[in-house]
Parts: sequence; structure tokens; C-alpha cells
Amino acid sequence: MKFWNTMLKKLPPYVPGEQPAVTGQVIKLNTNESPFAPSPKAVRAIRSFDPRRLRLYPPPNADMLCGKIAARYGVARENVYAGNGSDEILADIFNAFASPKHLAVITDPTYTLYRTLAMRFSVPCRVIPTLPDLTIDLDAIPNKSTSTAFIANPNAQTGILIGYERLAGFITRFRGLVVIDEAYIDFAGEGTSLLPLIAKAKNLIVTRTFSKSFSLCGMRIGYAFASASLIEGLYRVKDSYNLNILSQIAAAAAIDDYAYMEKNAAVVCAERSRMTDILVRRGFAVLPSRSNFILAKPPARSARELYLSLKERGIFIRHFPVPRLKDFVRITIGARRENDALISAIADIG
Ligand code: PMP
Repeated sequence: MKFWNTMLKKLPPYVPGEQPAVTGQVIKLNTNESPFAPSPKAVRAIRSFDPRRLRLYPPPNADMLCGKIAARYGVARENVYAGNGSDEILADIFNAFASPKHLAVITDPTYTLYRTLAMRFSVPCRVIPTLPDLTIDLDAIPNKSTSTAFIANPNAQTGILIGYERLAGFITRFRGLVVIDEAYIDFAGEGTSLLPLIAKAKNLIVTRTFSKSFSLCGMRIGYAFASASLIEGLYRVKDSYNLNILSQIAAAAAIDDYAYMEKNAAVVCAERSRMTDILVRRGFAVLPSRSNFILAKPPARSARELYLSLKERGIFIRHFPVPRLKDFVRITIGARRENDALISAIADIG
């Protein structure tokens, strides 16, 4: 630690969900990955890639991919940015727009990376606790031009969605920058994305990812929508070749197969309702999720006990030992047979 700077000495290590060795025995419902393979078109694009091309740098601005994203979502190329996972884009946002004179405003609970990034970039951070029903208290966010509000919608850990009208009203009134993290939006249904607002709201960045609904988290591809000026700011700070060539090719093919993503997202949503009903019948309290996971409070055992008993049986779910979440387990919606295995293990544990 001799060479660590003051910020680094205070920075807690990130605790990722466990990634057990893939043995075929394990059921992994702990990190909100997709149970489906990537689109066959993306798989073909990766297979037909000539590795000899790897001697060349990738296109620095991922123009082909960003062009396809722009066309798909009906915006101009100048409104689109792509990065090495939306995690990198979130770091780029701090790098480009925040400073120690700013305030990062985050909710609790939410995606833990926002807080880590605020520390990394020495930006003061204000944490707004959710209301008792775990919904976000928009009215408590300080409305200042120096605030940057980070809102995951649907929210991470809870899966709760804020409806378009309410969130659009908040953004329109807000004087600072608003980052709406839509990592899970493809599971939230029609008319929920804040994307249509970017034409009007110059203080809005919408981030998205290929990690969840497009089944490509192993390739690390995120994208973002915003006004041309905000996007230009992100380009100024980005690594020269931030997105590798294979990821650019795979993501472009996945966008070309949009119907495949929609079909898979619909299956996840149907399984989410089925799992919610079953768990509620077993006495669990389940939050109304619009995401690819559910947050549930077990009736009998503690959440931690349930998590540990399932782990012993080779079923991985997530337990967050923090005040607002410690009574819950977070369960990623898996393939039907994985969900069924989870339910029978829960019945078995009793
Ligand atoms: N935002 C939220 C709310 C998330 O839950 C995650 C995934 N853990 C991410 C962003 C990161 O996504 P990516 O894989 O694109 O970095």
C-alpha cells in the first residue's frame, strides 16, 4: 500500500457476485445474466471473424455499431456513444462531467458502482434512502445545477420501475445532469424508456447494455444516448480504442437480430410472473419487478440462511448483507428448468 494514494486507501474493494467454475452442475441465478445464448447471428459473426485482423486496431469510434444503434432506436449518430460495458460509460461520465465541486446523488439501494466511481473521481456523494416500500424518493434529490443524479430504472437490486411520465417530469424540472441507467429496460415493457426525451432534455444521458437482454455480458458492450454536446464530451475523455473489434462485430449482429432479443426478454418476463406467483404462494414477499430478477423476502428462514442452504445445493442466488437488503434474496430469472430446480430446492429446505 506504500504507493497508494489517499483516495485508493479509502476505496473499498468491489464485491462481485460469485462466478463458480462452470461444471454443468451449478445453477447460477446470482448476477442477472441471461439464460439464453447470444443471437445465432452474433455467434456466426464471431465464428466468421478472421483472427488475422487482430493485428489492426479496431475502429476507434465504433462507427458501424453506433450507426446501427442510431438507426434501430431512431436517433442521429451524434446522439450515440459505445463503450466497454456500461460500467466504462459510467466512469466516462464521471471523467467528463463531474468534479470535486459537483455532487453525485445516488439512491440506496442501487447499483453500487455509482458510489465507487464517486470516490474514485473524488466527487462528493449524497445518498438518498429509498422510501419504506423501497421506491426512489425523487423529491429528496437536491435540485442543483451542480448535482448529477444517477437513477437505475428499473432500479438495481429492487427491480422497481419509475413510470415514464413521473421520471420525465423530474428530469425536465431538474437543473443538474441526470443519468438514467437502463441496463434492464428491455424487461420493463413498452413505453418505459426515457430515450424519447433526449431530443428535448439536454441534461439527460440514458445508458444501456448488451449484457442482459442481448446475452453478451462476456463481451463487455455498453451504449448511451444523449444530446450531441454530451456525447461529444464523452468522446473527448474516452480511451482511444475502448471497444474491441470482436465486441463491435458481435453487438452489431445482435442489433440486426433485434427480434431474437425481444423474444428472449418476453420469455424472461413470463418466467418472472410465474416465479413471483409461486414464491408468493409459498409465503415470500416479492417486490414488483420489471427487470430480469426479483427481490424476495423469505417467510421462515433468514435470507442469509436461505442463500447459504441453496449454495450448498449448487444453486447460487445473491444476498446483500446491508441494512436495507439483508432481509431479502435477489434471484435472477433463469431458464425454466433452473427456476424449477430453485423452487424445488426451496420446498426441500422448507
Ligand atoms: N447498470 C446496472 C444497473 C447494472 O446492474 C449493471 C450490471 N451489473 C450494469 C450497469 C453494468 O453493465 P455492463 O455489463 O454493461 O457493464
